[in-house]
Amino acid sequence: MNRFEPNLRIPGPTSLPDVVREAGARQMVNHRGPEFAALQNGIIDRLKKFYKTTNDVLIVTAAGTGGLESAIVSFLSPGDKVLAITIGAFGDRFAKIATVYGADVTKVAFEWGKAADVARVREALVAGGPWKAVLMTQNETSTAVTNPIGQLAATVKEAAPNALIIVDAISGLGAVPFETDAWGLDVVVSGSQKAWMVAPGLSFVSVSPRAWEAAAVAKMPKFYFDLAAHKTSAEAGQTPWTPAVAVMFQLDAALTLMEQEGLDDIWKRHAAVGAAVRAGLTTLGFRLLGDPAYASDTVTGAWIPDDLDWKAFNGKLRKLGLIVAGGQGALKGKIFRIGHLGHVTVPAVLNAMAVLEQTLIELGRPVKPGAAVAAAQVAALETLGVAVPEGTAR
Ligand SMILES: *Cc1c(COP(=O)(O)O)cnc(C)c1O
Repeated sequence: MNRFEPNLRIPGPTSLPDVVREAGARQMVNHRGPEFAALQNGIIDRLKKFYKTTNDVLIVTAAGTGGLESAIVSFLSPGDKVLAITIGAFGDRFAKIATVYGADVTKVAFEWGKAADVARVREALVAGGPWKAVLMTQNETSTAVTNPIGQLAATVKEAAPNALIIVDAISGLGAVPFETDAWGLDVVVSGSQKAWMVAPGLSFVSVSPRAWEAAAVAKMPKFYFDLAAHKTSAEAGQTPWTPAVAVMFQLDAALTLMEQEGLDDIWKRHAAVGAAVRAGLTTLGFRLLGDPAYASDTVTGAWIPDDLDWKAFNGKLRKLGLIVAGGQGALKGKIFRIGHLGHVTVPAVLNAMAVLEQTLIELGRPVKPGAAVAAAQVAALETLGVAVPEGTAR
């Protein structure tokens, strides 16, 4: 971070490490030639390790939403019964895509700020069906809640064993614990601009053998987002359409950084920054939106107090170089969110806490200088298992 570069604390796109940014400036290659084939083959093998899967992983040039659309149109037919578990705006979006393409969608919705309740999902599964697919969101970015995907998937396997499990893991995969194969997930979608520290433009989709069987008979209309076409092309080291080559160069560089750090340490770092942000915001007097038992370690949402002028507050944050996100859908104007995923460190979120503190003090609120920074740092240290000196204020 320098004086002229803001602390971009939104839940994607994230800021880019310098080597990632520079990789995007490389000269183009022939996307039908051997350099591209080597690049894509390498990236796919490396993505599989982060996905923890032996399934196919395909790269689609699109925003994350395009990846979600590909996951619907490639495996389903109009009229298919689909259960959509939703805990917020992105769960609603996934359900909507399926509805637009003619699936027979039943929503099982939970209060925003809560995780999906496994017992209620089981009831919904048993009450309807037969289900062709169940849609779920790993990390609901709009409410800063992480669903218990392992438990939800186990429930689907028990109550609707034939249903494909299709997961939007766009804002969590690569940052927080996730097990594609151990949890038996058929289709898992992620996006380059979230945990992967890469510019927007690529979506990744893993596909199980069971899902490919479904693809063979799927009748939803599709062209650009046909994953079977992506698979055929990938086998020849290509993509069906011209890919975002520069973003692939970036991804290649970012995966090297992620491998150097290691998945366990990446998960630990996100646990630490998540704990730090929650502790800091709470110390500043903010009420958090997400259920603490399912708090996301990639994004945190806090209610805007009635007596805090959001525009003045956010304007001051921006002047001091802190960029945060507002609320989405029903939460617009009611909450703000701090992103802490991908290219994020404990010092970067401590800086965010310092800016929030200073801004609130400038607005005349009774905030003690340094208190939120200290609370955040203690929370991070404790999460990392570092002994905090005796007598440290909490
Ligand atoms: C960001 C995000 C998306 C959408 O990604 P776009 O690239 O904006 O289309 C979908 N789902 C979740 C959970 C996200 O965080």
